[in-house]
Amino acid sequence: MVQTNISERLHQIEAELKPFGARLVAVSKTHPPELIREAYDAGQRIFGENRVQEATAKQPELPEDIEWHLIGHLQTNKVKYIASFVAMIHGVDSLKLLQEIDKQGARNNRVIPCLLQFHIASEETKFGLNEAEARELLESKEYAAMRHISVQGVMGMASFTDDKNKVRNEFRHLKQTFDTLRQGYFSNTDAFREISMGMSGDYRIALEEGSTMVRIGSAIFGQR
Ligand SMILES: *Cc1c(COP(=O)(O)O)cnc(C)c1O
Repeated sequence: MVQTNISERLHQIEAELKPFGARLVAVSKTHPPELIREAYDAGQRIFGENRVQEATAKQPELPEDIEWHLIGHLQTNKVKYIASFVAMIHGVDSLKLLQEIDKQGARNNRVIPCLLQFHIASEETKFGLNEAEARELLESKEYAAMRHISVQGVMGMASFTDDKNKVRNEFRHLKQTFDTLRQGYFSNTDAFREISMGMSGDYRIALEEGSTMVRIGSAIFGQR
């Protein structure tokens, strides 16, 4: 087996997260089960995948107490393949997708934790809602009727740029959106508490701006 220093990198990142009380999603996409196993043996339990096919292939090969997070864009017709085991879906960006997750949650007799994905970057290609769209979703009668999803927070990806101020402002905007939604729609529950933001290149800024969950791949597993 190739010698890596996954465990060293994990422990270093965990130490950085600790003062902020944030959690780590180790993004294992494109990496084989053996590397995930190595991270697992170093104590990591939350792993992020962005493709349904890859997640469903890896899940049965690895320990049952792993929390699998689906972090990328999710197509409605693929929800059924992950609904039995997924611990959190980060990329909810439409009522239609949330309805399908609810339906598949019901089929599997469980409640599926979800995050609303917001478009905070300036790049046009990134998926996500704006605040008005999120309000519309949360005020809909369809949403009110859902019993097998739990909206637990927000997720966003900053612009891919060296401009740290720009990235900081985008994260700050997501935190503000989170605060506004919590006040408006979730004031009677503490279930709405996650702000999923920060990747290998920008997680330190994300932590300073209030991230509760960072999604880190290459800084742990190396380049893809
Ligand atoms: C790949 C990916 C990450 C991790 O990216 P790194 O730069 O490797 O840390 C985080 N979030 C999402 C949505 C991703 O697709």
